[in-house]
Amino acid sequence: MTMQHAPVSVLGMGPMGRAIAAAFLAAGHPTTVWNRTPGKAGDLIARGAVEAGSPSAALEAAELAVVCVIDADAVEAIVDGAVAEPGRLPTSTLVNLTSDGPGRARELAAKAGELGVPYLDGSIMTPAAAIGTGATRVLYSGPAELFDRHRPALAALGGTAVHLGDDPGRAASFDVALLNLFWTSIAGLMHSFALAARQNVPATALAPHAQQMAGLVADLVPGLAADVDAGRFSGADSAALTSVAASLGHIVHVLEETGVPADVTRAAKDTVDAAVAAGHGGDSAARLADFLGR
Ligand code: NDP
Repeated sequence: MTMQHAPVSVLGMGPMGRAIAAAFLAAGHPTTVWNRTPGKAGDLIARGAVEAGSPSAALEAAELAVVCVIDADAVEAIVDGAVAEPGRLPTSTLVNLTSDGPGRARELAAKAGELGVPYLDGSIMTPAAAIGTGATRVLYSGPAELFDRHRPALAALGGTAVHLGDDPGRAASFDVALLNLFWTSIAGLMHSFALAARQNVPATALAPHAQQMAGLVADLVPGLAADVDAGRFSGADSAALTSVAASLGHIVHVLEETGVPADVTRAAKDTVDAAVAAGHGGDSAARLADFLGR
């Protein structure tokens, strides 16, 4: 058996766990699956997966065990369950692809360390449907040696795998910041669709323009990031925060006029107003990251 076809296990048969197991099977890995509630593996069994009767049996069957469940508490419950089973705890590498905070990732890494279980943390940045395709993006952190050792098997998930460093919490730090960007953007988009609808503009009519606007935001990311890190805040060549505050004021006014709750926009306006009140009215939007991070 080649390293590319190392036996793997997947613990957690939600949509993401199932997609991961399907990708391992498609890549030719002998794949064992386990889920707290049995019978959720669907057609994975018909495609060759073996269902384990316990977390410990799933770990025992593999060189690499991926756990992907609802949160870190569930991961801990699974690890505790495996420890409680009679016999020696298997020493297959545990790759935790469950989303949770960096503190919890470090706690789980410490717990695994005490149990002698090699532990790598990771955050999946793409939807379940992308797993096994070139679109997948997974961020990993924890011992570089473990990442390197299991890279060939993890390549079955497809796309891009990035190792961010030895601190097991680092992938989760990126994850939480990126998901904050994602969900506040989606909230903003839905808010804009609601505002447009109240003015008889269907979401599909706004969509091409919204897409162009989202592209503008994407284009601004590298420059704003460089400015934030360098402490370059002058708004002389872009929009000054006084101007941003006025623009947000108009939007809040129209939201109130049309009866759409203004909270999403008011939260942004409150931040800008506070930065202006603190004397940063002439600065660019880059100042907000510094202001909020103080
Ligand atoms: P869910 O987040 O809906 O989690 C469901 C899974 O968690 C089930 O297998 C469930 O088992 C298990 N579970 C819940 N509580 C426990 C527990 N106490 N002990 C053991 N198992 C438990 O599933 P997803 O597959 O959607 O997501 C898994 C992870 O992947 C999450 O952290 C999510 O944020 C992340 N992710 C998901 C994406 C997606 O597109 N779905 C995209 C990117 C990341 P049971 O069936 O017994 O209830």
